[in-house]
Amino acid sequence: MTTENTEAMITCPYCGSKFKKKVPSKGKHINCKCVFCHTVFGINTSDDCCVYCAYSDVKCPNSQKK
Ligand SMILES: [Zn+2]
Repeated sequence: MTTENTEAMITCPYCGSKFKKKVPSKGKHINCKCVFCHTVFGINTSDDCCVYCAYSDVKCPNSQKK
């Protein structure tokens, strides 16, 4: 599959702003920087797969496969 241009709408847990970020087709992204308040937020690695699964409206390619 070549769906590499998926964009996720991430919601910042600190300021509540929403911003788009491209979902990478590979790798595990455990943190993300808010483009508005510049806070770097991470995930709870025991519960969440990655920042996309935890904070956005789309799931990362890893969990979409299931
Ligand atoms: Zn923010």
